[in-house]
Amino acid sequence: MHNNKTNNKIFKTKNTNSNYIYFDHAATTPVLPEVAEVIKQCFLYDFGNASEPHLLGRKAKEILENSRAVIADILGANEFEIIFTSGGTESDNLALFGIAEAYKNKGNHIITSKIEHPAVIMPLKYLEKKGYIVTYLPVDKYGFVNPEDLSKSITNKTILVSIMHANNIVGTIQPIKEIGKILKEKNIVFHTDAVQTFCNIKTNVDELGVDLLSLSGHKIYGPKGVGALYIRKGTKIMPHVFGGGQEKGRRSGTENIPGIAGLAKAAEISSKDLNKKIEIITEKRNYLKNEILKRFDEVFLNGHPELRLPGNLNFTFKYVEGESMVLKLDSFGIAVSSGSACSSSSMKPSSTLVAMGISPQDAFGSLRITIGFENTYEEINYFLECLEFTIEELRKISPLHKQSC
Ligand SMILES: *Cc1c(COP(=O)(O)O)cnc(C)c1O
Repeated sequence: MHNNKTNNKIFKTKNTNSNYIYFDHAATTPVLPEVAEVIKQCFLYDFGNASEPHLLGRKAKEILENSRAVIADILGANEFEIIFTSGGTESDNLALFGIAEAYKNKGNHIITSKIEHPAVIMPLKYLEKKGYIVTYLPVDKYGFVNPEDLSKSITNKTILVSIMHANNIVGTIQPIKEIGKILKEKNIVFHTDAVQTFCNIKTNVDELGVDLLSLSGHKIYGPKGVGALYIRKGTKIMPHVFGGGQEKGRRSGTENIPGIAGLAKAAEISSKDLNKKIEIITEKRNYLKNEILKRFDEVFLNGHPELRLPGNLNFTFKYVEGESMVLKLDSFGIAVSSGSACSSSSMKPSSTLVAMGISPQDAFGSLRITIGFENTYEEINYFLECLEFTIEELRKISPLHKQSC
């Protein structure tokens, strides 16, 4: 028995399906009870429009600005550098379109990586159609971008670089600081998608050396449909939602006060004692990792053994299909993922895994397990038992498995 089998719960989530085991935190997280309380308060009582001068309007404005201060504080930013959006996707879109447009007189070249989230890749595909030139940097077998490759791909037309802080599939944490130094020297705008890292590891914008940073509420035990974009002072950005001029004209629309207050509350709780949480969650992850490598044959870890998000594991189980594993485990009351939610409905292997040099067949056999603070060792052990049964069953019927050949 594992000696850490205690309930290391830093906080509990109130889950109505209390028997269901949730290991898909990279896709989304449950909303914390304290967060739900704050949101409910805004819906029922503090429902004013933050642009109105009366009592309820002033109250809404106060919640808005306090929330902004919470986010700014965690990022080590100024309050006026934070704008609220409808989530990670909108923050990424605004950063890319907004910078491409604002700096088009300076150049039309953008650099990114092959393993970015679709919220970055798709806007860039669109910009390519509009005449921008995009370089998609390769990654090594662990999923790392090489800062030297990046350095070499810079031209005098380069206006923007967008490299994610950590990857959502394999959890690889990119050398953002090194890249930031290179770009600062060359005076090129640097955006990072930090949706997977904000409140999960340290995200200080000055230490990272980034000019724009995207974050989202629902990956940190907050609500869906709300996020923020950090925009460094002095960075020009062209808005793409026009209207009443909210968020200093950079993102119009009546502010989503319940969502914003919920995001701030989630961030406040999630960022508290962060180092302690990282330690606890890494310990659980390593326990699960070692047990899987011990109990199974023909399995390998995708991504870097250490330089990855604390809660992320991604394995390839040879001769089985990720989708089948997910469904089998679901029948045991366990939620895991076979890649990213967006690509698992298509018949394409994860582009991240393929970019890392993993064969399409092995990429189809990948399983992503992302654990959260509320997961216990009891849950992990139950999962391991179910996984043993799952792999055994699926390999039995697999035409690719050597025993059946
Ligand atoms: C989830 C995610 C997004 C999208 O955020 P939403 O708030 O769901 O729009 C963007 N980038 C990464 C890396 C993500 O994990």
